[in-house]
Amino acid sequence: MNNQDLIKIAADFGSPAYVYDAEKITSQYDRLTSAFSNIESLRINYAVKALSNISILKLMKSLGAGLDTVSIQEVKLGLKAGFDPSHIIYTPNGVSLEEIEEVTKLGVQINIDNLSILEQFGTMHPKVPVCIRINPHVMAGGNTNISVGHIDSKFGISIHQIPHLLRIVENTGMNINGIHMHTGSDILDIEVFLYASEILFDTAKHFKDLEFLDFGSGFKVPYKPGDIETNIEEFGEKLTRRFKDFCKEYGRELTLAFEPGKFLVSEAGKFVAKVNVIKQTTSTVFAGVDSGFNHLIRPMLYGSNHEIHNISNPDGKPRFYSVVGYICETDTFGNNRRIAEIKEGDLLAFNNAGAYCFTMASNYNSRYRPAEVLWYNGEAHLIRKREEFEDLVRNQVELDFDTVKV
Ligand SMILES: *Cc1c(COP(=O)(O)O)cnc(C)c1O
Repeated sequence: MNNQDLIKIAADFGSPAYVYDAEKITSQYDRLTSAFSNIESLRINYAVKALSNISILKLMKSLGAGLDTVSIQEVKLGLKAGFDPSHIIYTPNGVSLEEIEEVTKLGVQINIDNLSILEQFGTMHPKVPVCIRINPHVMAGGNTNISVGHIDSKFGISIHQIPHLLRIVENTGMNINGIHMHTGSDILDIEVFLYASEILFDTAKHFKDLEFLDFGSGFKVPYKPGDIETNIEEFGEKLTRRFKDFCKEYGRELTLAFEPGKFLVSEAGKFVAKVNVIKQTTSTVFAGVDSGFNHLIRPMLYGSNHEIHNISNPDGKPRFYSVVGYICETDTFGNNRRIAEIKEGDLLAFNNAGAYCFTMASNYNSRYRPAEVLWYNGEAHLIRKREEFEDLVRNQVELDFDTVKV
């Protein structure tokens, strides 16, 4: 997928557009599975919330992935994409008991992350196998420290509450078949992650009927040249060794599960937008594109750094630009970026636009959400149409003030 391909896609499907490279998704999947090739039973459950287009889910299915979901709607998308419910894990936070029960009926593996719901669920459905999400209270502090912070995180059952957890399991007679953690922090320092894994192993020893251990995600991907990323190969080697030792100790081969989102799809995505206007002020040259945080909010929400390239003039003389959107609020994609000279009408491509980009898009300013395109086997395939005016008004109920009594 080169610049000319992206330019053609923008011409065919309009700008802005999200474009995903299936080959990159596949190679990331292969990289992860190769790093853990010595594990007998490995499950990669793709985190749907990163990029939830059904065609992407189908691609994941063809690769052999399962799904990690956080809402019943994501579960339903997965089922629609053809996943077997047994290959879907549901890891919600703060959802109602009713929703968890509904998901249970669909045959999906549930993962519970608080004691209150665990007790209620276990009392009513003692036979349904449940995975438990723990909070190991581990996060990387700097690059070398292990700090037991995160004590106030809303996710997971604190390891300090294990005795209480065990009482609930015993009293209800419920069946715990998995232990899970997802700390949300990056696996940059492999030792820190392995330290957290030890806490997972320690917790797992309390349960006799486990089938799997789920290590969540945290795989970091590079956003710009020179960024550090998780050394997957080294990580695979070290965790595999430790996992195998644990299984021996435990007395049974368990499944090792991960649930990466960003790692699988971030780098595969490009966001292509057109420059509407070049605006020179006394201090800055702005390049204003036909988009804003309605389409790509991560730079404004998290300060994430998406590289921006001028694909219409890649060999132009580099100059400094602030790339901004067309929303009536500050929506800066990049401040003072060195980009090949931009003219009005040029197309810019934003990197790392696969994960948490389209899925966080909105209709703010009553703009349409963009098209999504999958680049597969050297061809562009439309996998979501750009919205139209009809989409903006579909669920609105128009009151007629001449007839409504107020
Ligand atoms: C978001 C999420 C993931 C995926 O995280 P990435 O950083 O995108 O890999 C995995 N598991 C759970 C429970 C999540 O909430």
